[in-house]
Amino acid sequence: MAADSRASRMATKSRRALIIGGSMGGLFAALYLLKRGWRVDVYERIPVPLSGRGAGITTHDEMMRAITDVAGAVPPDFGVDFEWRETVDAAGRSIGTMHRSQVATSWTRLWQILRGQLPDAHYHGGKDFVRYTQSTDGVTVAFADGSSETGDVLIGADGFRSVVRGQLEPAALPVYAGYVAWRGLVEEAALEPSMREAIFLKFMFHLPEGEQVIGYPVAGADNDLRPGHRHWNVLWYRPTDAEELKRLFTDDTGRYHPLGIPPPLISRKYIDALKADAEQLPPQFREAYALVSQPILQPIYDLEPARMVSGRVALVGDAAFVARPHLGGGVVKAAQDAEALARRLSGDAAGSPGHGIAVPDALAAYEAERQPRGRIFVRHAQELGSYIRRGFASEDERAAAEKFRTPHSLMSETALMDWLRSAGALS
Ligand SMILES: Cc1cc2nc3c(=O)[nH]c(=O)nc-3n(C[C@H](O)[C@H](O)[C@H](O)COP(=O)(O)OP(=O)(O)OC[C@H]3O[C@@H](n4cnc5c(N)ncnc54)[C@H](O)[C@@H]3O)c2cc1C
Repeated sequence: MAADSRASRMATKSRRALIIGGSMGGLFAALYLLKRGWRVDVYERIPVPLSGRGAGITTHDEMMRAITDVAGAVPPDFGVDFEWRETVDAAGRSIGTMHRSQVATSWTRLWQILRGQLPDAHYHGGKDFVRYTQSTDGVTVAFADGSSETGDVLIGADGFRSVVRGQLEPAALPVYAGYVAWRGLVEEAALEPSMREAIFLKFMFHLPEGEQVIGYPVAGADNDLRPGHRHWNVLWYRPTDAEELKRLFTDDTGRYHPLGIPPPLISRKYIDALKADAEQLPPQFREAYALVSQPILQPIYDLEPARMVSGRVALVGDAAFVARPHLGGGVVKAAQDAEALARRLSGDAAGSPGHGIAVPDALAAYEAERQPRGRIFVRHAQELGSYIRRGFASEDERAAAEKFRTPHSLMSETALMDWLRSAGALS
């Protein structure tokens, strides 16, 4: 097609984005693009509404701003508000407090808010992306059911094991960080009343040698925010070598689950061992882990690809960069990727929203803007997690890691964005 006729086609017809993955990155991308007049279609592998299996999400001003951008406002019943952070020693005595107002919500609540903004006609569940082909005129995606779709741009928002990235940048693979998070939810009403009074509305920390334990309140089942019906979300980061992880990922029938073991299949012997080890924790966390009925095992990964784009294909969110969860910034990163992508694709920099800018040029500008920021996220999260390990190669290495193992460092950096703001990693 001649360049002129292509330009006139672009100017008269809204362009179409194909988005793989219907989670945080995919929904933010769809909503930002929809607002700018794009036609969008989200293709999600999972056929039913997504759920974060009770995962808690700490929120930040940037997240509230992104939600307001795409949903008009943050609903008043968004999450649980709390004011204080506290670190305890092995005996449960306070060794540091910090005042920091924050709201924690649940992954599912956030997903429902975003999904509620996207008309059903634009969201296609049960569509398993397999591969793409692209030309100067467009990009075509193929799905496992044999169907295909063609659009102007393909957005890979398909998470840390992205199939889109597997084709775009096959060398980029998530690297296991050498530790796992044992997550769990405790029912507020199950906590002994004085314990509930002491910890429930706080972000609590404990720093065993080479490990980290945190807890904070989140909404209860079905986003219930009524006192007595909420949950306390606990995470225990523990060094776990690759061989050990393989054992943990093997169920009682001997089947190995290399991509992650569904919580109900985790062998009882490992859950019993976790609970036995939790007996050594301070009383606050000892009681919490005793009350967790179904722990969730989450290995921690880093991912830093050399490229985020290729021609008409771009990666956003965890498909692009994965930072360890200490910053609690994965959703903000996904939302800001999506915003930048929609802005670049809509040609705002050229002053002609919606028309005219060539997709590969827009994607190159997107990568130049977002890649340095993704790197900062990953590197700083690595620093925060650097002491979660067994043994150090040298005293210098230990000293560098220990800088992040003080109550002050932990409380002023975990699940907060201040450092990233000052480093210019946030929009
Ligand atoms: C322990 C832990 C705690 C965390 N805590 C926080 C926190 O407090 N705050 C925060 O902001 N972030 C937190 N995060 C990170 C956050 O959950 C992620 O950054 C965020 O979910 C990334 O969204 P995403 O859309 O990029 O990817 P994902 O949420 O991984 O979604 C990818 C989607 O793509 C779909 N998909 C995959 N392959 C295909 C395919 N071939 N075809 C079609 N669909 C496909 C998947 O089914 C999935 O729905 C935490 C992460 C962990 C591990």
